[in-house]
Amino acid sequence: MAPHDSAALYDHDIEVIDEGIDSSDVHPLVQIKSTLPPNRADAEAAVKALISYTGENADRPGVLETPKRVVKAFDEWFGGYKIDADGLLSKTFDEVEGYQDMVLLRDIPFHSHCEHHMAPIIGKAHVAYMPKGRVVGISKLARVVDAFARRFQIQERMTEEVAQTIERVLEPQGVAVVIEAEHHCMTTRGIHTHDTVMHTKHLSGVFREDANLRREFFDALR
Ligand SMILES: [Zn+2]
Repeated sequence: MAPHDSAALYDHDIEVIDEGIDSSDVHPLVQIKSTLPPNRADAEAAVKALISYTGENADRPGVLETPKRVVKAFDEWFGGYKIDADGLLSKTFDEVEGYQDMVLLRDIPFHSHCEHHMAPIIGKAHVAYMPKGRVVGISKLARVVDAFARRFQIQERMTEEVAQTIERVLEPQGVAVVIEAEHHCMTTRGIHTHDTVMHTKHLSGVFREDANLRREFFDALR
């Protein structure tokens, strides 16, 4: 393999994932020419291939513009990669520096997508922290949730990422994050478990050590 042959490099990458694949098996619409990230036209071609795969006529007027719309929707659904979550919390308020009680923002709605099926995860996050000096505007907590929701996710990791960002930037006495969400890969396919809600939580610092504070937090979520 020539060291600067990017097409060969790409083939090699594919072989590592699945040695059985042959480049002639790949639909011409989704063949990617280099190791560079796919551009917009590549992404639209991939969506068109998926439409054709279902048996739909991808050139039918009703769906002709769908690849463009889907890629535009992706920009929004997966826009979290462009957000600096730490930066969202970097502006703090000094005038409330003496505040020493729990700060809680509950029922933060979010939309995410599971990384296994790209199916929607729709739910609510509840975020609390016990300040140690630094306090942020509460809308910033909602924006941190949004920054991680708009990525390929699993709920457990999203819970950790939200909590760890607050821990790292605000260095509070403790953080509590609870996420409850419906996973459309479960409710609309597979075993079709309607109305099943998954709960995940992360508790650290004083929320782990102080049973009264923990109770206060969970009582506030009822
Ligand atoms: Zn899934």
